[in-house]
Amino acid sequence: MTAQYRRDRRQLVERLRQSGIQDLAVLHAFDEVPRHRFVPEAVRHRAYEIAALPIGHEQTISRPTVHATHLSLAQLEGDERVLEVGTGSGFQTALLALLADEVYSIERVDPLAERARDRLRQMEVEGVHVRTGDGSRGWPGAAPFDVILVGAAAPSVPSALEEQLAEGGRLVVPVGDDEQRLLLIRRRGGELEREEVERSRFVPLVGEEGW
Ligand code: SAH
Repeated sequence: MTAQYRRDRRQLVERLRQSGIQDLAVLHAFDEVPRHRFVPEAVRHRAYEIAALPIGHEQTISRPTVHATHLSLAQLEGDERVLEVGTGSGFQTALLALLADEVYSIERVDPLAERARDRLRQMEVEGVHVRTGDGSRGWPGAAPFDVILVGAAAPSVPSALEEQLAEGGRLVVPVGDDEQRLLLIRRRGGELEREEVERSRFVPLVGEEGW
């Protein structure tokens, strides 16, 4: 079974490459992290499909192409402090652990945060901190961050996240409801530059600077 998963994983990496993902570190991380261990038993056979899958509590693990796009936009070199908003399954958290230095991940739904934390601990993933809370307010105690990745759509860019972005930092955040757009925001010389990357479809960011 493990060999089958490994073959499926290789195939997923190949599909990501064909879909335009070029960052070799990102592709390598997908080859390393067993996505099937982050989804419920009932959908495990679909773990390496290009699909979002249910993880309970009305939430989903995002499509692999979505994680790959966000991680590519983050341009990680290995020494970054990262904030992830919306831990969900913890899969992207594990990818980030391979691609950055310290990962702070915050999840609103406590049982999801607990499960992700247990899973990451069992898999001996290092350099990650998972807590339950409202990520629309960021994680002030651990700021500033070189990279902030938001996995749920906000009504507008949460000001707390912009404030917690380090000089040179990148913030990737989907904004909007029916008509969502993925934004890439860079802090340069104290200024914030905004770029619209593509259309997106995420679950809502629920919180103070969310819905
Ligand atoms: N990258 C994750 C995405 C999960 S979906 C994965 O692939 O597993 C987005 C997650 O954001 C959900 O788990 C949802 O509960 C969480 N979320 C929504 N609003 C939030 C908020 N204000 N703070 C933290 N997490 C939030």
